Amino acid sequence: MKNYLTACCLTLTATTMISCHQENEAADAPWILDRFDDVKVLRYEVPGFAELPLEEKELIYYLSEAAKCGRDILFDQNFKYNLPIRRTLETIYRHYPGDRETAEWKALEKYLKKVWFANGIHHHYSNDKFVPEFSRDYFLSVCEAVPVERFGEELNALRAVVCEAIFNPELYRTRLNQTEGEDLIATSCNNYYEGVTQAEAEEFYRAQVVADDPEPVAYGLNSKLVKDADGQVRERVWRVGGMYSPAIERIVFWLEKARDVAREPQKATIGALIDYYRTGDLREFDRYNVMWVRDTLSNVDFVNGFIEDYGDPLGRKASWESLVNFMDRAACRRTEIISENAQWFEDHSPADSAYRKEKVRGVSAKVITCAMLGGDCYPATPIGINLPNADWIRKVHGSKSVTIDNITYAYARAAEGDGFLDEFMLREEDRDRIVRYGKLADDLHTDLHECLGHGSGQLAPGVKGGELKNYTSTLEETRADLFGLYYLGDPKMVELELIPSLDVARAGYAKYIMNGMMTQLSRIEPGKNVEEAHMRNRKLIAEWCYEQGRADNVIEWVERDGKTYVVVNDFDKLRELFGRMLREVQRIKSEGDFEAGRALVEKYAVKVDPKLHEEVLARYGALGIAPYAGFVNPRYELVERDGRVVDVKISYPDDYVAQMLEYGSDYSFLPNLN
Ligand code: ZN
Repeated sequence: MKNYLTACCLTLTATTMISCHQENEAADAPWILDRFDDVKVLRYEVPGFAELPLEEKELIYYLSEAAKCGRDILFDQNFKYNLPIRRTLETIYRHYPGDRETAEWKALEKYLKKVWFANGIHHHYSNDKFVPEFSRDYFLSVCEAVPVERFGEELNALRAVVCEAIFNPELYRTRLNQTEGEDLIATSCNNYYEGVTQAEAEEFYRAQVVADDPEPVAYGLNSKLVKDADGQVRERVWRVGGMYSPAIERIVFWLEKARDVAREPQKATIGALIDYYRTGDLREFDRYNVMWVRDTLSNVDFVNGFIEDYGDPLGRKASWESLVNFMDRAACRRTEIISENAQWFEDHSPADSAYRKEKVRGVSAKVITCAMLGGDCYPATPIGINLPNADWIRKVHGSKSVTIDNITYAYARAAEGDGFLDEFMLREEDRDRIVRYGKLADDLHTDLHECLGHGSGQLAPGVKGGELKNYTSTLEETRADLFGLYYLGDPKMVELELIPSLDVARAGYAKYIMNGMMTQLSRIEPGKNVEEAHMRNRKLIAEWCYEQGRADNVIEWVERDGKTYVVVNDFDKLRELFGRMLREVQRIKSEGDFEAGRALVEKYAVKVDPKLHEEVLARYGALGIAPYAGFVNPRYELVERDGRVVDVKISYPDDYVAQMLEYGSDYSFLPNLN
């Protein structure tokens, strides 16, 4: 089995963004379009679109249509009743004739907004089922008030199932359980498996692996695994003619239009993707990925497919996502410098020389402007992507790393002046450095993590990848983050003129430690542990360095006026600790040392101190910041004259609800149950 979890989708939220200006954020700031629960919805702009040549605008238009057509797939993957739930709620929302000012209606509306945001009834980050703040009786009464034919026969028949899913707290509690020792499939209610146990699923895929295949496919990536009535375990493949066919056919329809306007080699690349969608053959997918990764010159680029496996506790099944983009040439210079020096970074890594790559190849790095988000990238969005995930392709052909600058910029703008830094960062010198260099430190850390971190290192002979099992994801993100942290503080960064001084690293380090040990807890519910891989990795790094540097007081807890702060006293020693830890985590990956990896994660990354947690939640709550953010997409329209496309116009809708309702009616192709 390959090490498909070298994938990365860095999800950044407001808690990791630091303001650049200390003005007060106006409640009606024009870039914040909506707020509900723990979420704010933002607008992103697409600078440079209007100046693109017509053929590229047209290509973006068709790829964007394809990006919107897979939305239902993700809903269904997340949970098998998400589609009837969403449709029932949308029907109510459109047609309820009663009072829309009551507290219960407002609660129902908020619930629907959350379902749209999470692509289902489980929180997009914590994976826990939402608790409705309206009653079952109220829900049934509004259903009654809507004319029965509005729902249609099937939704009416599914009413009881929908009701149980929403209101029974014992059912479908989490979409993704990663608790050690439990049956991770039986206890996770995502829709990737049905009727099979974890042991049966593991056995099914173990039996498929071809020994010593130099080009192993990602077995199980694009299918649901089910047990039939006759007890037979088999895959339902996501392809034209298979599961999710109605949506995939629409995706293919728009990809064909895109292929028609694309130039070589992109034309052939899109053709390969179409072949894969038609056949469901994972060798075709790899063929497409190889073509895609080798095309580093096309200005317009895209992700479209079953890509990331974070939603499957076994790390095998991939959720559908899409992202359409074009190059931000001015900003690419920064990552070019990093990329050109890839070998220097690898050679100077603190990892054991046996586990460094002798020759680092194929690291391509660019900064992009996002033009459309779809599936698992919408509305919550990554700020960096590193693909493809197949280890052998990365080794032989390299990978593409991107950071998405217009999204990063939109986050930073929304986080301006929210009071976060003043509340949690004790020393003025740290706050000053972060105000000056926080954004640059974030950008560079992301670049290093994506462009070099994931691609660095090599496995020991005989190690296949996959040995770290449910700890793979956390340890992989840890490795990439440590790589970024270690080099952010390297004098080489100044020499390469990437940073004006090592104060940038000090800003980044202070932020990272504060977030990892403390402020990211604001995103966790009381009584819960840390589950998400990136959050675990940050906690692991910060807590490990705290403990290892204790004798030298490298990191210190400080109490001041009844409030707790974490302070970095020695940045140089902290960097040494990052290096030491990188060496150990690389060893764990290279040797597939499951026990050591498990011990690290379980000791440092999971358990939350309830007292500290309570304090962080109270202080964070008092600031009134929504910890998660997502985006409304721009809209593109073809301008035609005499039957020919002469331009593509972009506009920026400002209504989250309207966009969700539009997508729900115009881009919904799957049946209620799949
Ligand atoms: Zn990553």
